[in-house]
Amino acid sequence: MNLTEHFTLEELVASQVATRRRIDNRPGPVVLKNLYRVAELLEQVRALAGRPIVVSSGYRSQQLNAAVGGARDSAHLQGLAADITAPGMSPRQLACVIRDSGLPFDQLICEGGAWVHIGLAAGAPRRQVLTATFNQGGTVYSQGIA
Ligand SMILES: [Zn+2]
Repeated sequence: MNLTEHFTLEELVASQVATRRRIDNRPGPVVLKNLYRVAELLEQVRALAGRPIVVSSGYRSQQLNAAVGGARDSAHLQGLAADITAPGMSPRQLACVIRDSGLPFDQLICEGGAWVHIGLAAGAPRRQVLTATFNQGGTVYSQGIA
């Protein structure tokens, strides 16, 4: 089912972990509404980047979020976030393009040079920009794009 021209519900709820572990990751009506907002945001990101956007994680049910080690208050739980990459662009380049735009994101995180997390808020967007670095002790966040 298409949420917007280029983004489907299926790609925003797909998860290899959920499939493998038979975790129910079907969204309820509130989450579905939020996923429409995320898809609209991703359309804007796609236009900014000038290329397709690949979603590696969108909505996560409680069970799935726990299984993938997501933060307990993750925006993914409400269907308000997506982890994305853009072919031919580094995550850092993609994050910079989004940061320098007027997009009303709540949180933008360049995740260890591997992907970009973009989240929306239920209320007013904070436009918080962070870089996450993964190490053995866990994830360390710093302000801005490193
Ligand atoms: Zn994320």
